[in-house]
Amino acid sequence: MHNKLLAGKPVSQWLEEHSLIRDMAALNEVLWFNPGTMPFNEAIKKISLGAGDVENAAARLDRFKPYIAKAFPETQAAGGLIESPLKALPAMQQAMQQFYGQKLPGQLLAKCDSHLPISGSVKARGGIYEILKHAETLAFKAERLSIGDDYSKLDSKKFHDFFSQHSIAVGSTGNLGLSIGIISARLGFHVTVHMSADAKQWKKDMLRSKGVEVLEYSSDYSMAVKKGREQAAKLPNCHFVDDENSCDLFLGYATAAERLKRQLSEWDIIVDKDHPLLVYLPCGVGGAPGGITFGLKLIFKDNVHCFFAEPTHAPCMLLGLYTGLHDGVSIGDFGIDPVTQADGLAVGRPSGFVGRNIHTMLDGAYTVSDEHLFQLLALMADSQKLFLEPSALAGFPGMLHVSRNTGYGQKINLKNAVHLAWCTGGSMVPQNEMQQYYERGKSLIPN
Ligand SMILES: *Cc1c(COP(=O)(O)O)cnc(C)c1O
Repeated sequence: MHNKLLAGKPVSQWLEEHSLIRDMAALNEVLWFNPGTMPFNEAIKKISLGAGDVENAAARLDRFKPYIAKAFPETQAAGGLIESPLKALPAMQQAMQQFYGQKLPGQLLAKCDSHLPISGSVKARGGIYEILKHAETLAFKAERLSIGDDYSKLDSKKFHDFFSQHSIAVGSTGNLGLSIGIISARLGFHVTVHMSADAKQWKKDMLRSKGVEVLEYSSDYSMAVKKGREQAAKLPNCHFVDDENSCDLFLGYATAAERLKRQLSEWDIIVDKDHPLLVYLPCGVGGAPGGITFGLKLIFKDNVHCFFAEPTHAPCMLLGLYTGLHDGVSIGDFGIDPVTQADGLAVGRPSGFVGRNIHTMLDGAYTVSDEHLFQLLALMADSQKLFLEPSALAGFPGMLHVSRNTGYGQKINLKNAVHLAWCTGGSMVPQNEMQQYYERGKSLIPN
């Protein structure tokens, strides 16, 4: 391992020269402030994506509202909008102050993507968007649909039969598979989900019950993606959802920002230079947190500060950003295994597409141990009666890091800050499974 060359330098030398990498390799929790962050107006010039791309994605989701409302009745009240609530967490903030023995100024909020309709995780944004876009493209091409139509007509035998001539494939640790599987099967596609070893049994069972083909691998996420990609290339009419490189996923996630802006203004929460918004985003391959960061920066520019959170056992994005090698480095290069209960984040190699697009926008990143995630899970359950999956707790230490780091606190007005932890999943976890998570968390909290 230590002789392997990365960008012409042996791994041993990377370790010798960078204490941050040594800490990551030792599985310690680490914190990194990005020295490459640029003012937004400069950062946006470095990339080819812009506000128009996100607006197009939002308009497409609007066109699909009548379909979504009809096919998924739980979205009817919101008119077919797939959106999650914002929640104030005063009791959790208090519990965290006690737990950490540290004052945490500002206000703590949660964005409850754990309770997004249809698939109960952040993947209901990007994943569903990409499939809807693909379905629309096919239907346009076949002249079965035009832009002014009432899209609820897609929920019919005629369209089901049409889409059944096409197939979808995806590699997943679980949640992406759930969201792609559910929407694709509902539209009528033949859909195959290639699941990595860490995927939970209940997710596979649920998908099979909806008519999704689930293939299981004993290897990790990267291998599941590779197998999926290979198989899809052999099939005619097969669309492969490429989590590691997909611009559509990224833009689907980015639409969250405009909706958050609306929710914040409904709550009379101001975001400006004197009232900073700090957002903490659990990160796997990077699409979800990257897309959301991009959307938020387009709207709030330098008044929003975004941080990625990864498990100590899967700090792939931090490694990619810090070394500048992006998808040219994997955690395995430094002997780190992706063994974590945060299955939504158990990824060994980051998306190069995401890393290259957000490395001048992101404010920082940190890692969280599994033990710490479970402690936070139990604190959240006890203080707010909010039950989340382990991945979804990764955002919470962010508030501690920023409050503790006086250098950062001097740059922004912490007293007026709103800290938003993006709670990325959990409402679909079976109750017995959640009970085990909770008990494990309780057992890790000292009395
Ligand atoms: C997938 C996932 C994430 C991270 O999304 P990426 O696009 O893989 O970075 C975070 N939390 C949960 C619960 C997820 O399922």
